[in-house]
Amino acid sequence: MSKRLYFDWNASAPLRAQARDAMRAAELLPGNPSSGHAEGRALAAILDGARTRLLSELDAPGAIVVWTSGATEANNLALLGAARQAKGSHPRPLFAAPVTEHEAVLNTLSQIEREGGEQQLLPVERDGSIRSDALDTALAREPLVISCMLAQNEAGNMHPVAELARRIAALRPRPLFHTDATQAVGKIPVSFRALGVDMMSISAHKFGGPRGVGALLLRKGLRLQPLQFGGGQEQGYRAGTENVVGIAGLIAALEAAHAGMGEAVPRLQQIGAALREGLRRLAQDVCFLTPEFGALPNTLALSIPGVDGRSLVVALDLAEVACSVGSACSSGATLPSRIAKAMGYGDEIAKGVLRLSWGDATTEADLKELLDRLRQVLARLRRSTDSEPRRT
Ligand code: PMP
Repeated sequence: MSKRLYFDWNASAPLRAQARDAMRAAELLPGNPSSGHAEGRALAAILDGARTRLLSELDAPGAIVVWTSGATEANNLALLGAARQAKGSHPRPLFAAPVTEHEAVLNTLSQIEREGGEQQLLPVERDGSIRSDALDTALAREPLVISCMLAQNEAGNMHPVAELARRIAALRPRPLFHTDATQAVGKIPVSFRALGVDMMSISAHKFGGPRGVGALLLRKGLRLQPLQFGGGQEQGYRAGTENVVGIAGLIAALEAAHAGMGEAVPRLQQIGAALREGLRRLAQDVCFLTPEFGALPNTLALSIPGVDGRSLVVALDLAEVACSVGSACSSGATLPSRIAKAMGYGDEIAKGVLRLSWGDATTEADLKELLDRLRQVLARLRRSTDSEPRRT
């Protein structure tokens, strides 16, 4: 059997050895980090150490770290926590975000709406950037919170978050600014301070940490209503015993990602360029949704007219290649990609979206092999489409 090729790093990156080692060491320790005895204090020291290291890795001096179960919870806490905190002062708080945000933001905004708030989703251009007229209109409406992801999980385009933060900082009243940095952290350098945001969500498994753990970074002094009620952990922001093992893995993974980033980024970009070239040779009419410059270095979203994305993913899986249609979270559906539609593509392109994403363990040989298997799969799919009876 041929080697499986993993090209779905944006869904979840493989666990890094450094994360596995840190987790193995932490899982042997007994106790509860909130207990006052030596066992508890040893775990609390791991949490505090991880907090300090996270603030250093993400250049966020003085910020607050709230450990969560991932970016979904971090996004929920940031947005719903802000909405509920503003209850007394804002009868109908407005939240604005690009329409291409992850479901973990969009569905939270819908919940905010059910609780009496308002959401304004901002349309995007063909390259995924927010339409400037829509942004101007939203900013003029005195929103309570703007949320804008740093990197789009499906198309890989980046938003100019720092620039947006400068605009937001000049507004009166000044809205809160949240960024979902889940797909950027660990792949490109990210500085909380340079971004100038108030809140930032991250998830460990996107950069080689374990699944089910993440964090929300908060500007010091920012108050949010907690979403969970229980003990007073995480300075009252998030009740519940912390996932010490997961947190130990998260910080070890992020440090390892950053240590290798100088070499990794150009390599990831080279793989992307070679993939584009190889794909153009396989299908002249291939359409790339990922902008050629300034996007995530490890992501390529593409569509081949007449080739259904889901059929391609299934056929590639049978050919021992893992990749995805759009985002993995919505892979149950055969609908056209909502991201491609939002970017202005028609149904034919939107139904064919395939997302390839790779990482620092991906080799030249993997890339060659991927193109080879893609060639075979495309030939087979085209043959079966050609032999289908035509409907009149
Ligand atoms: N935001 C973005 C941009 C994502 O890509 C994901 C993961 N697909 C999430 C949030 C949710 O992360 P998690 O499932 O780890 O909570």
